[in-house]
Parts: sequence; C-alpha cells; structure tokens
Amino acid sequence: MIEVKNITKKYGNTIALDDVSFKIEEGEIVGLLGPNGAGKSTTMNIITGYIEPTEGEVFIDGINMLKNPKKAKRNIGYMPEGVPLYGDLTAKEFVTYMAGIKKVEKKSLKEKVNNIIEQTGLKDVQNKLIRNLSRGYKQRVSMAGALVGEPKVLILDEPTVGLDPKQITEIRSLIKKLGKDHTVILSSHILSEVSQICDKVIIINKGKLIAIDTPSNLENKTLNNNSIYVTVEDANNKLVKIVEGIENVKEVKLVTENEDGTKQYLISGNDGKDLRKVIFASLAKENITIFEMKKSDATLEEAFMKLIDEGGEE
Ligand code: ADP
Ligand code: MG
Repeated sequence: MIEVKNITKKYGNTIALDDVSFKIEEGEIVGLLGPNGAGKSTTMNIITGYIEPTEGEVFIDGINMLKNPKKAKRNIGYMPEGVPLYGDLTAKEFVTYMAGIKKVEKKSLKEKVNNIIEQTGLKDVQNKLIRNLSRGYKQRVSMAGALVGEPKVLILDEPTVGLDPKQITEIRSLIKKLGKDHTVILSSHILSEVSQICDKVIIINKGKLIAIDTPSNLENKTLNNNSIYVTVEDANNKLVKIVEGIENVKEVKLVTENEDGTKQYLISGNDGKDLRKVIFASLAKENITIFEMKKSDATLEEAFMKLIDEGGEE
C-alpha cells in the first residue's frame, strides 16, 4: 500500500532522513516511533507529498508521489503535528471546508460531513468554534479533516500529544476503530502507545531506520528472554562451574552478593530454551539451595532504549 524507497532528506548540512526504506501493507496500523528530532514528521511530510525528499521515491497504492502527486494524494488523509488551524471556524465548518478542498461531490457533501462528524464523536460540539474546544476535541477535528474524501491511508502525526489520559484513551480507541478500514501510520515517541495500538513498529532515530517489526517480535529479538535471575546459597562457590556445564547456557554472571550470604546470578541461555527446569535440577543435585528464581522481566521499553543506543552510534 505504501512503499518508501531510499528516502534521504537534507536541510543544508542536517541530514533529517538517511536512506530510509520500508513497506506498509494494506490494512495495517503502523507506528513510527522515535525520540524528538528522529525524523518522524519529515517522513510523514514526504509520504503525504507535503515536502519532497532530496533523494528517493514514495509510492502510494502503486502511484509515484513525486511523479503523480495529485493522484497519489487522493488516497491520503493527513493529520499534521499540532492543533488545527482555522480556529475561527466551527468544527462543522472546518470539515465542510476540507471537503471543498478534497473536491467531495456537492450532492453528497452534507451527508459525508455529517458521517465524519458522527464517526469522530464531534456531534455535540460541531457548532462550536474550534478555538474554544478542548485539546482533545481539537485533535478530533484534525482527525475529521484527515478523514474527508474517504482516503485509504491515514497519516497521523503525534495524535495524542498534549492530551490528558482520558482523551488519550479516547483517541487511541478511535484510531483502532479507524484502523479497521484504513491503513494507518501514526507517529509517537511513546513506546507503550505504539505497542498497544499498532500491528507493526518502525523505529527511527537520528534519521535512520533502526528496526521494523511487530511489537512482540521486537521484544523477542532485542531482549534475551531466556535470561534467568537466580538467588542461591552456595558456600563453596560451585554454581558457576555447574551452570556453565549445562547445555544451551551461554553466560553466567554474578549480579549481587547479599548481606545474608546469598548470591544472585544472571544466567542467559540460547534462544528459545527455558532453562529453569534444568537449572533447578542441577543445583538441587549439588545441594545448592535456591532462594529465588525468575525470568528476566525486561520490557519493550528496554528493547527500545537498546535499539536507540545501538542505532545512535556513528
Ligand atoms: P520528529 O518529528 O521525529 O521530532 P522531525 O522530522 O521534525 O523529527 O525532524 C528531524 C530533523 O530534521 C531534526 O533534526 C530537525 O531539526 C530537522 N528539521 C526538520 N524540519 C526542518 C526544516 N524545515 N529546516 C531545517 N531542519 C529541519
Ligand atoms: Mg514531529
């Protein structure tokens, strides 16, 4: 549905995007994730044809954005960063105005505007001036603007920034709903948000694409899920030797020595092997008492930080 091919964007000496490529399939909700200044808005501005890349190409539903922008843009609804302009229009006037820009047929205009207002939960405030609406409603107005013209693709730049927790929940569920019949790309610098809403995550940092995968695959790939913390009483210091002799154990590290004489070790294994059973049996055989054993509870947040760190190296 969307193909970004070797996009580079330079602003003078600043490289905002550096040879970024990815594909997004129809119907996916994809999160563009990265810290501030990573290049998220630049990527979105290029996909929507709002700015041109220095190098590279973008295809929307097979149509080349650079060669055929008018046609390519017809498939896209774009919600830019920040609050909507046109504060002096009412919500309904704004959506109607957008419908004019998107050349929605006069015949069906009223009905379509009303549908979008309904869909985005703006019915109760449709006749209020945008500038008098709460931040959450302003965001809905922006979203409504993006929905005009029935685009197949929705591009939402930081849709939850500046919202309170309740508004965030509401906007997220609206995005999920819209994701049922649209391809959606949203940007965020909040990892948990992206992993909650999105089927796929694209991580960018300093203009470079670092990873593209499902949230759960990213978690599995980047973290050693086979790491086990074990706290033992091991007066004769036999543990390291015993555990190193177990098949599929990669590494044993002493983490802490506790005041009560117990020690905590971190044992990491090869992919896909849960080592708890065999560790338990081996240590029991040697009369090493296990006080605690748990799988490493590293999170996607850590995976993200790790990826960003690695990708940030020049
Ligand atoms: P994000 O949306 O991830 O926060 P942006 O895409 O806005 O990041 O910015 C990426 C980089 O490009 C930043 O270093 C930013 O300063 C730079 N940049 C963006 N727009 C411009 C511009 N119009 N002129 C110069 N530099 C820009
Ligand atoms: Mg941005």
